[in-house]
Amino acid sequence: MASITLKNLGKIYAGGARAVGDVNIDIADGEFIVLVGPSGCGKSTLLRMVAGLESISEGEVRIGDRVVNEVEPADRDIAMVFQNYALYPHMSVRQNLAYGLKNRGTPKAEIERRVKIASDILQIGAFLDRKPRALSGGQRQRVAMGRAIVREPAAFLFDEPLSNLDAKLRVAMRLEIKQLQKRLRTTSLYVTHDQLEAMTLADRLVVLNGGRIEQIGTPLEVYRRP
Ligand code: ADP
Ligand code: ADP
Repeated sequence: MASITLKNLGKIYAGGARAVGDVNIDIADGEFIVLVGPSGCGKSTLLRMVAGLESISEGEVRIGDRVVNEVEPADRDIAMVFQNYALYPHMSVRQNLAYGLKNRGTPKAEIERRVKIASDILQIGAFLDRKPRALSGGQRQRVAMGRAIVREPAAFLFDEPLSNLDAKLRVAMRLEIKQLQKRLRTTSLYVTHDQLEAMTLADRLVVLNGGRIEQIGTPLEVYRRP
């Protein structure tokens, strides 16, 4: 686990449009931060800068005590869960889970141990040999989370992971992520536009507007009406 610090973080896209500005957040070890705000407010840009999928225009991102501005995505000790699952269609669930670890040279026995733990946590043990196309949406999203868990990363980044699921499944998966959070206590940054997800999951909420922090606090503090 690790703390994450965003210091004066900003993003100006080619062409000069500012997407994020002056963002300062100290995320404690094991803390679950949810980023909310209207479409276009910069949530995804911010998350992608932390992930290393988008270059940083201003300020810095620290993970633990390392400044990671120039560190490649694969070397950031962070695992990201995407809304489109990003599973490899030609691989079985087991291969999808193992792939990233294999690439990093993790020993086979260790890969098997981690795949077993992740598939127990996510209850996907029964379809480890299936291809993603033979899974339901909820099962696919569990596999996508499994791929993040097996990495045992310092932090999880979630980019609207439940927004492709139907309403009923979204409720169930929201509670599963809550359980996961209780069990693993991994530092997390979670983007959503769903208020229930935000309230259920967040230790603290960050409300972005026009690329800047409008409010930051516990769900109670943020959603309390004056
Ligand atoms: P959100 O995730 O909150 O919907 P985004 O981070 O996707 O917001 O977008 C923030 C702003 O940056 C928007 O004005 C969007 O149009 C702009 N933007 C996003 N991606 C790019 C890009 N690749 N090039 C230029 N502008 C972009
Ligand atoms: P792993 O399973 O270990 O994440 P991958 O080869 O799938 O390994 O991913 C390598 C890097 O690319 C990771 O940092 C991951 O966050 C990123 N990545 C994976 N899938 C996507 C995607 N669909 N879009 C953008 N980035 C991705």
